[in-house]
Amino acid sequence: MPAPPLRAVFFDIGDTLWHAQAAPPPSAFRKMAAGRAAAFLATNELPVDRADDLARIAWTSLEYAMRAARAGDLVEPDYSARAGAALREAGTDIDDVTAGRFLDAIYVSGVDGGKEPFRDAAPVLSELKRRGFLIGSITNRAFGGARFRDDLRATGIDGVWDSHTVSVEVGYLKPHPAVFQHALASLSVRAGESLMVGNSLLEDVAGAARLGFNTAWRRSAPDAEGVTPDFVFDELSELLRLPILKRAA
Ligand SMILES: [Mg+2]
Repeated sequence: MPAPPLRAVFFDIGDTLWHAQAAPPPSAFRKMAAGRAAAFLATNELPVDRADDLARIAWTSLEYAMRAARAGDLVEPDYSARAGAALREAGTDIDDVTAGRFLDAIYVSGVDGGKEPFRDAAPVLSELKRRGFLIGSITNRAFGGARFRDDLRATGIDGVWDSHTVSVEVGYLKPHPAVFQHALASLSVRAGESLMVGNSLLEDVAGAARLGFNTAWRRSAPDAEGVTPDFVFDELSELLRLPILKRAA
């Protein structure tokens, strides 16, 4: 039986549509975060003189929780609670909600974080849209909401999206099936009618293929063995030449 024609194309974001080509060095990141931390702490009557220290503690708790989840059950951690516990352990009087807002305040994202779209990202998305495809994102991020949408807009990758599926909003990380199921439901499409495009064999290709998506892998350092994407490409514009993307069903 021939595969059903495609209706939707889902994209991973990091290193698929944008990359940190112009990322500031870690020291500059820390300085930016510390500046934001100081401003936040001042308005929340918390110890401003420990801005650098507290930003590092909060951020480390987030990274640790994220790494453990990625290596473990793929359930998105409660980052606010993790940061809150770490900051209280460090002697501050901060509740989890405020700790979550603190993380959000010190998070250096989008253009500030040096994110640049790949040169052909915006034109390829527009052309796929013109061909009638539904366009969605499927991305592992600890921060979703308006901030993520604003970052897409600031980098010029916008105006085409029919849905966004962000791990922290779903509660699971790719390659957990719940993330991909959420994306399919968001556009009312089936996996066989969808193409997942991403740079991770583990998170994007294997995760989506398990549910029956077609898959396209942006060639990168392989992060899994024994995973065979349906298509492999180096430049996004190559997608436009794939027969299955000629026109949406
Ligand atoms: Mg990626």
